[in-house]
Amino acid sequence: MIIPRKKLNLWERLYLPAIIGGFKITLRHFFRKKVTMQYPEERWVVPDGYRGAPYLVEDQDKRIKCVSCQLCEFVCPPKAIRIVPPGPSGAPDVGNVEKAPREFEIDMLRCIFCGFCQEVCPEEAIFLMQDYSLTGTTRQEMIYNKEKLLALGGVHQDNIRKWKKKAEEAKAQKVPP
Ligand code: SF4
Ligand code: SF4
Repeated sequence: MIIPRKKLNLWERLYLPAIIGGFKITLRHFFRKKVTMQYPEERWVVPDGYRGAPYLVEDQDKRIKCVSCQLCEFVCPPKAIRIVPPGPSGAPDVGNVEKAPREFEIDMLRCIFCGFCQEVCPEEAIFLMQDYSLTGTTRQEMIYNKEKLLALGGVHQDNIRKWKKKAEEAKAQKVPP
């Protein structure tokens, strides 16, 4: 079936109605509230509880809460976490009482912000924070080491303060902590 093409009248052939219609839409948007965000200078304010990048935290006594149990490394779906435990000698400042990791790395290019590491951690040592936009110029730069993770994670108010109790117990028993 051939459908005959409708002929344009003189007014339509001038294209003026279409041009004026286009200008009207442009003008309407010109006076509307701007919705374009000047990223990265401007960023979304994410709600409380948002699950962004995972970082390590210290307690208020500046002790790293992680004890190298490696549960997070085991459970991480994309295998983004790599932990090097302190070894049999333990951490130099606390002996072998607790095993702060010698190295702790998260490959942020692999991390999918799933939150399994936070949920599985028995020490509340790792939390998903509000950073959702991580950038870097090399792959190596996107592997965050322990120092960087701790600096970004900051201090977590720890009410249990297990470290302090351990140190006090060790002092009472007169054994090196
Ligand atoms: S948030 Fe998920 S993917 Fe990212 S490090 Fe934790 S367990 Fe792995
Ligand atoms: S962050 Fe938590 S789960 Fe991961 S090794 Fe440290 S203590 Fe274990």
